[in-house]
Amino acid sequence: MKVNNIDIELISYENIVQPFFLNHAPVRGRVVRMGAVIDDVLQRHAYPLPVSRLLGEMLTLTALLSTNLPENGILTLQAKGSGAVSFLVTDANNCVVENCGAENKTTNLRGYANLAEDGLQQIKKLKETTKKPSLKQLMGEGYLAITLDTGLGDPYQGIVPLEGDSLSQAVQNYFVNSQQMDVLIQLAVRRNTNNDGKKTWKSGGIMLERMPEDGGIQRVIPTNITPEDAALSSWEYNSLLFKTTTNDELLDPHLSPSALLYRLFNEGGVWINDQLPVNFGCRCSRDKIDSILSGMAAQDLEDMKVDGKITVTCQFCNNTEEFS
Ligand SMILES: [Zn+2]
Repeated sequence: MKVNNIDIELISYENIVQPFFLNHAPVRGRVVRMGAVIDDVLQRHAYPLPVSRLLGEMLTLTALLSTNLPENGILTLQAKGSGAVSFLVTDANNCVVENCGAENKTTNLRGYANLAEDGLQQIKKLKETTKKPSLKQLMGEGYLAITLDTGLGDPYQGIVPLEGDSLSQAVQNYFVNSQQMDVLIQLAVRRNTNNDGKKTWKSGGIMLERMPEDGGIQRVIPTNITPEDAALSSWEYNSLLFKTTTNDELLDPHLSPSALLYRLFNEGGVWINDQLPVNFGCRCSRDKIDSILSGMAAQDLEDMKVDGKITVTCQFCNNTEEFS
């Protein structure tokens, strides 16, 4: 569908990914906006504010990168560092009806963070000097691994050093260095205080991707393009338009992704594909834990018992299961 007018309805456009591509240009991208979903993941954990924000960024990145997942495919982002935040993991599972009980095909997100032993003290100290610590300040030296498991054959994994001020920069580096692809990513994660005083998380992101010039996109590209059209379709020009995106635009639940894309790219023309829903979803289950426990030695199980019971908490969703 071509985007050609601005949607002004006051409804919320959240928990969705909106894929798009530009007219006559080998450029495509995605817009993501999350409300209840990111709030649900982050509120399950009681992390210090900068850690929740960092995990929120990684969840938003995961949603942006997961649009081409095959059915039941899993995309995992893992960051390991020497700093206060020692480990971050998020994953997106493109689940189909029979596997996750969803009414339609949906992308399920989840994630958690681990802190170093003295992580809390380190973050407390950081807060004295900066309001928004950088990636380096929070995680130190480390790496980011992106793993794609399509369910067919061995998973594919790419690894890059944790470089840059943010996770989005680290992911941009991953595409430039490992995939030889130009990619631009902008993210915004914010905790709002609502009218009733309750604090909730929101996030938004946009990604622009330069496709290989020689194919890859199933589209007829007209041969009678004027030099003006060619300039409008260039990566350089569209990168400049992309960089005018503001955090408020990314986070505004009443600004539809199509309206945002129209604002940015209407000069050259922008097209959208179907929106994809994003949900919170954890793949843990009592049965899975039960089968892991059944495979353990009797003495180990005995050592795990407290008051005659074994309690197992899922790190992703914080749900607890008790076994007698
Ligand atoms: Zn779980």
